[in-house]
Amino acid sequence: MHTIIEPFKIKSVEPVYFTTSQQRENILRKAFYNPFLIQAKDVMIDLLTDSGTSAMSSEQWGGIMRGDESYAGSESFFRFEAAVRNITGMPYIIPTHQGRAAEKIIFSITGGKGKYIVSNTLFDTTRANIEFSGAEGIDLLCAEGKLPSVPAPFKGNIDVDALEQFITTKGARHIPLVIITITNNSGGGQPVSMENIRAAKRVCNKYHIPLFIDACRFAENCYFIKTREPGYANKSILEIAQELFSCADGCTMSAKKDALANIGGFLAMHDEALAMQCRNMLIITEGFPTYGGLAGRDLEAIAIGLNEVMEEPYLKYRIRSIEYIGEKLDAAGVPYIKPTGGHAVYLDAKAFLPHTSPDQYPGQALCGALYTAGGIRGVEIGSVMFGKYGKDGNLIPAGMELVRLAIPRRVYTQSHIDYTTEVIIDVFKQRENITGYKIIYETPYLRHFTARFEPA
Ligand SMILES: *Cc1c(COP(=O)(O)O)cnc(C)c1O
Repeated sequence: MHTIIEPFKIKSVEPVYFTTSQQRENILRKAFYNPFLIQAKDVMIDLLTDSGTSAMSSEQWGGIMRGDESYAGSESFFRFEAAVRNITGMPYIIPTHQGRAAEKIIFSITGGKGKYIVSNTLFDTTRANIEFSGAEGIDLLCAEGKLPSVPAPFKGNIDVDALEQFITTKGARHIPLVIITITNNSGGGQPVSMENIRAAKRVCNKYHIPLFIDACRFAENCYFIKTREPGYANKSILEIAQELFSCADGCTMSAKKDALANIGGFLAMHDEALAMQCRNMLIITEGFPTYGGLAGRDLEAIAIGLNEVMEEPYLKYRIRSIEYIGEKLDAAGVPYIKPTGGHAVYLDAKAFLPHTSPDQYPGQALCGALYTAGGIRGVEIGSVMFGKYGKDGNLIPAGMELVRLAIPRRVYTQSHIDYTTEVIIDVFKQRENITGYKIIYETPYLRHFTARFEPA
């Protein structure tokens, strides 16, 4: 078989600025060892996030010019609405400026003190919006999802038995909704099977709880269903997506992921009364219902991107290029979550740096080492992002200590990827020399964005 090539040609380029490791050591120190505080020009390969970093297509840029900027009833809104409705089958579609704005609206309305929002794994902004409403976020990930080194096809699945048990223990009236994240971003970008979504829906139906989908990476998840779940090999990605969303009562989405756009998001649902409440909130916080915090041109780019993202040559190249990193890491014995996920490789920092304890934030330390060694920027997904303090003030660590290397869509070529794996392997060979960090400044919510560190 021949090499799977990038299914695009490059029309416009951006420079990569080169730095030495000595320069990067200084830059990192000045950024308080937090990759979020490093200037982008000082990063050579930016794997901080796949969010809003996609390269748009010439079609999307064409759409940007065509964007209808009318305040009310914009043509671009109707094209956006049609694209979302075609995939989700949901009648009420509410545009937001990004995913967390959709979360803020739905959880302000459904959340609140004494309520529980149950998930396979909540993403950080989702959890923050739930907690900000006063409700509690509950993660019920399947057992195999918690074993980083053991491969399984659908490690993002929700534990359906645990879900039912949780509902019967706490009482359905305290659980306004269940939300399944596809793919499971915080748990390794692992997919959720159609069978699992159906099973979760049956439990939700039994207790009259609506099931929502956090649909940020729906196309990648559907590609995994097509390639891994029996019965889907001959279905198109659109058909699989339509079947998947037909199991849900609503969804939130960040268009900065699988809509190949640089900004945007939406909330969609079947329930008219709930949609009316959401729209009222939208008008206060985002904008009029036919633009909701976006320019007409953004709606246009999203409408086009939602269709491009379901093209199979694109998904094949995308999933394969991430698998390819995994194969190279395997050959060098570098620990990472297996199998590789849809949008990122998640290095297992606990296994990578066994000499650092969770309160020395091994993921953060590994991020620092990758940046210094090769100008690569990743993000910690571990106790910096999800750690909590107990009543005694001690850290309650996250379940896993990971470094996510998220691959922007259609941005980097194979040689960028080869370089990245070479740097990771170099760092792995010198892992004994990497020391942990301590936090010297933090905020109560989403502390990872602004926290400051110094070597422990
Ligand atoms: C990115 C993301 C969000 C939030 O979307 P934003 O556009 O960044 O606000 C929510 N859930 C998941 C799974 C995500 O990956």
